[in-house]
Amino acid sequence: MGRVIDGGCQCGRVKYRVEGEPFGLAVCHCTECQRQSGSAFGMSLAVAPAAFKLRSGALKTFEVKCDSGRMKMCAFCPECGTRIYHQTGNGMSIKAGTLDDTSWLKPDAHYWTMRKQSWVVVPDGVAQFSDDG
Ligand SMILES: [Zn+2]
Ligand SMILES: [Zn+2]
Repeated sequence: MGRVIDGGCQCGRVKYRVEGEPFGLAVCHCTECQRQSGSAFGMSLAVAPAAFKLRSGALKTFEVKCDSGRMKMCAFCPECGTRIYHQTGNGMSIKAGTLDDTSWLKPDAHYWTMRKQSWVVVPDGVAQFSDDG
């Protein structure tokens, strides 16, 4: 019995559940994440793909090529466009801002800090990498 994490999209059609302890939370300041989120950075909660269960609604996916050259699958609600998760190979990361409760989130690492907006301050003691590490 691990943690049970519920989340969903902005319009409420998509609801999902993740069962089990996540592997970690990464903040990414790259320009792709800024564009995707329409904000200053992206938050990715790494989970086991088998732990993800879609409980209502449907997801649409598309693929993008990462800077690393690998393909990344992006899943989103087709009604409201909220990005729900990314999948690269065997790895899966939930867009952590879609969780019903975000109060417990604490980033383990910050990536692409060379693209970071200057007013974002990474706390002391949190790992940071100038690029994708
Ligand atoms: Zn939606
Ligand atoms: Zn990024």
